[in-house]
Amino acid sequence: MQAQLPSRKGGLGLLSASALADAAFVGSYHTASSTIKALYPAHPGTEASLALERLNQSLHRSDPLAPAAQRRLAGHIYNSRFGEILRQQPTVQQRARLMGVSNPKAGAFVTAVPSGPLLLRSREFSVILGFRLGLALTGEDPSQCPCCAAQLDQFGFHAVACQNGQIAIRHSAIKSCLAALFRQAGFSVQLECAVAPGSARRPADLLVPLLFPGVDGALDTTVVSPLLLSNASRAARERGAAASAAEARKIREYASEWAKIPAEVTEGIQFVPMALECTGGWGSLAVPILRKIALAITRSSSSYGMCYSESCGMVYQRLSVALVRHVARQIICRKPAPAGAL
Ligand SMILES: [Zn+2]
Repeated sequence: MQAQLPSRKGGLGLLSASALADAAFVGSYHTASSTIKALYPAHPGTEASLALERLNQSLHRSDPLAPAAQRRLAGHIYNSRFGEILRQQPTVQQRARLMGVSNPKAGAFVTAVPSGPLLLRSREFSVILGFRLGLALTGEDPSQCPCCAAQLDQFGFHAVACQNGQIAIRHSAIKSCLAALFRQAGFSVQLECAVAPGSARRPADLLVPLLFPGVDGALDTTVVSPLLLSNASRAARERGAAASAAEARKIREYASEWAKIPAEVTEGIQFVPMALECTGGWGSLAVPILRKIALAITRSSSSYGMCYSESCGMVYQRLSVALVRHVARQIICRKPAPAGAL
């Protein structure tokens, strides 16, 4: 059922024609109503009224929907289905997973054309789809994590949050992907350079000269898991809660760290945490930076005529694929799936 939701709602975009039939009919009739009235003034519109009545009954609405465009009516169907699926989740971690993957950009990889940097191996793709849908990825014999000896679960929740193993590789992949996108947008990027000559302290993962008017951007990337028991309770109620908490923590850490550096060195540098949840959603402070990259790409000669929405989609897809590739590998390397399983 989750797979039938749009990718922006946590699904796979495998929309159900039967579920949308009444919304499509009512929407079409509503859009064409002025033409119909002009051509057939006495047309009763009975079929459309009945379809709207069926739609309102199926949604159990106390305030019945009025005729509207299909997109608007379908949105009500998706919201109702999502709420129903969320209520059916058996654990707080599964609810946190569903909230995480339903971040509007978390499923950018689902709609990516598999080509070049957007390619995933078939095993990676099937495993990440199973993780996204909350399916059991292994048999019912949870073993120990080979990286930290903790008990594994069937759904990959420990695997994607384990602080050992591939976590550094995943972080490095996101950082490298961001740097490549900045360069495509025409920015110069310095990776992990010292904030002051000869200083061991670094400003962040990426230093982007003049990212803001007259000010450099010091970006620090972090990937956090809303599925950790310490995060899941809040993440199950509030979409993006784990990324928000990570942003606040990074800001506190850097305020403390930068207080030790002479002010004239850090002057002209603005710190921005780039927090990404392992379920795919970005923190609210990262979003304006990603939009800035997309806008710069649109205006650059490397855009190949892409409009802003296309550049924005490309930026999110590149980062999404970089993330899910490594999330899938974290799961795969801990528990090879038995034959026939995802
Ligand atoms: Zn582990």
